Amino acid sequence: MTNDDHPAPVAVLGLGLMGTALADAFLAAGHRTTVWNRTAARADGPAARGAHRAATPAEAVAAAPLVVLCLSDHRAVREVLDAAGDALTGRVIVDVTSGTTADAAAVAEAAARYGAQSLDGALLATPDAIGLDETTVLYSGPEAAFRAHEPTLAALGGCPVYLGDGTGLASLHDVALLAVLWSGLNGFLHAAALLRTAGIGATDFAPTAELLFGSMGAFLNRYARQVDEGDYPAEDSALRTHLAAAGHLLDESERRGLNPALPRHLTAVMEAVAARGHAADSYVAVIEHFAKPTA
Ligand code: NAP
Repeated sequence: MTNDDHPAPVAVLGLGLMGTALADAFLAAGHRTTVWNRTAARADGPAARGAHRAATPAEAVAAAPLVVLCLSDHRAVREVLDAAGDALTGRVIVDVTSGTTADAAAVAEAAARYGAQSLDGALLATPDAIGLDETTVLYSGPEAAFRAHEPTLAALGGCPVYLGDGTGLASLHDVALLAVLWSGLNGFLHAAALLRTAGIGATDFAPTAELLFGSMGAFLNRYARQVDEGDYPAEDSALRTHLAAAGHLLDESERRGLNPALPRHLTAVMEAVAARGHAADSYVAVIEHFAKPTA
């Protein structure tokens, strides 16, 4: 669909903070980029940087074989797809609007209705990171459609990951990663609040916390294997050891006047799993608090 001399045209619908960054990345990579936004004035910036303005979604879609949708939600996506209508025929839609697998399925259905194919996309980045070598973008959907447009999509980030043709796999990974993100961030912020009571600033603490996050990669794969096998031998540390340490965190947090909700929750989860007979198993047994065992 493209080569270095003639990068393929692309259309970007939705020029909010993220959509504008996407359009700019395509422009920077030399693609003829057609843009549309509900509030037309938001196309002024990309147009000044070389983008072609479309007056309607249908006009934008007609201008390129690859159509990127970046809107605030899937109600907006539905409206824009319906507005584009039959102009979508033969197009490949990449929907990077955050959502669920059900949203992705609805987009795939709408695309098929108009004779288009759809890829689900998830941007693991803020707008300032779009286009960087280290930026990851997840994709799922029909593989031939992804491979055909992979060279164009490379403009968005140097680490594209194709997850397979299952509908909504990119969105599923996206929400799953949010669980990791927010759990990690809440832990960091509780820790920062705890240290602040001793006059230690978060910026002083951050490098130490970073060491822990860095070391987690080493045992994640081992723990993942235990999850998949449904067997949790305590190869390094038993749940009862974690439980004792959780008591220290709760005690210290209460003494220092912090909201104890997070350590109380962590302690309660570990206690519940230990009470089911997993005290001597690894921490991985906590998976059974969240889901039924696999084995
Ligand atoms: P944003 O700045 O609020 O932009 C939202 C866009 O949606 C605007 O272009 C807006 O058009 C358009 N829109 C809303 N309702 C519409 C409708 N009914 N019809 C047509 N257009 C409509 O949001 P954003 O930060 O760009 O985020 C866009 C998507 O990217 C979201 O799903 C977000 O979760 C995802 N994302 C964002 C980030 C990030 O860091 N910003 C990171 C990863 C993923 P108007 O200008 O006319 O209002």
